[in-house]
Amino acid sequence: MQRVDTPEQPVETEAPSPDTDRDSRPARDGSAGTQAVAELRAVQKTYYKPDGSIMVEALKGLDLRIDAGEYVAIMGASGSGKSTLMNILGCLDRPTAGQYLLDGVPAESLGDEELSKFRGRKIGFVFQAFNLIPQLTVAQNVEVPLFYQGVDAEERHARALQKLELVELGDRTDHRPRELSGGQQQRVAIARSLVTEPVVLMADEPTGNLDSTTGNAILELFESLHAKGMTIMMVTHDDSVAERCERIVRLKDGELESDRVLRRRNV
Ligand code: ADP
Ligand code: MG
Repeated sequence: MQRVDTPEQPVETEAPSPDTDRDSRPARDGSAGTQAVAELRAVQKTYYKPDGSIMVEALKGLDLRIDAGEYVAIMGASGSGKSTLMNILGCLDRPTAGQYLLDGVPAESLGDEELSKFRGRKIGFVFQAFNLIPQLTVAQNVEVPLFYQGVDAEERHARALQKLELVELGDRTDHRPRELSGGQQQRVAIARSLVTEPVVLMADEPTGNLDSTTGNAILELFESLHAKGMTIMMVTHDDSVAERCERIVRLKDGELESDRVLRRRNV
């Protein structure tokens, strides 16, 4: 794909209508701004062999724009580049070529340490395997990102409790993760991802380890966060999960295969 400087994406809408015009949407702060939360411009990611020869072109010049308040599923066959894309979107890795802007800031303008701090402020991560620390209580797990931000103990605890209430686990704060069900553990992980007040939630197969009823409760939680304005990007293999998002971005061999807007949240 050759487009570099146009903000519009190729969007196939099932039923084209004026209110699917991306640039007409207000920003999350209520202003009329059109700044993307995440924007990739001709992003390439190449993995090299130790001898310097090309091993894999995992992303081949990707243009993608995700605006405040969107709820996007990222799909594609195994090996199509989803994890590579999520790593770049999540500032865990940098493009080989092209530009990535997170909340308007080019990742390339930040050094590694600055980028990692920036990521901590802007992004909440939710993983398939929950990644809770078994020795810590539920509340302490949720406090961890604030610990790294140097927030004092009292404020950390108060903010953790507030997010645990939000995910309806206010009565489990002193439990250890192993005392909770898988769905409850994922809700702890979601509380942890939200405790820093990020601008975007990035989830990699968040329902992949859960049965369908429990997974459904997690998706309902995402939908309620989205209804309050949270921007969410989620990798999933599951069509029924993706269909609950508002937009489906599909990768194939490191390129954008399709970008489909299903619906828009009423704003
Ligand atoms: P997906 O998450 O969609 O399965 P990935 O982004 O993990 O795809 O991988 C895309 C391509 O890049 C694959 O061909 C994979 O083998 C390759 N790849 C991913 N990570 C690395 C790496 N660290 N080194 C070399 N090749 C990699
Ligand atoms: Mg992957």
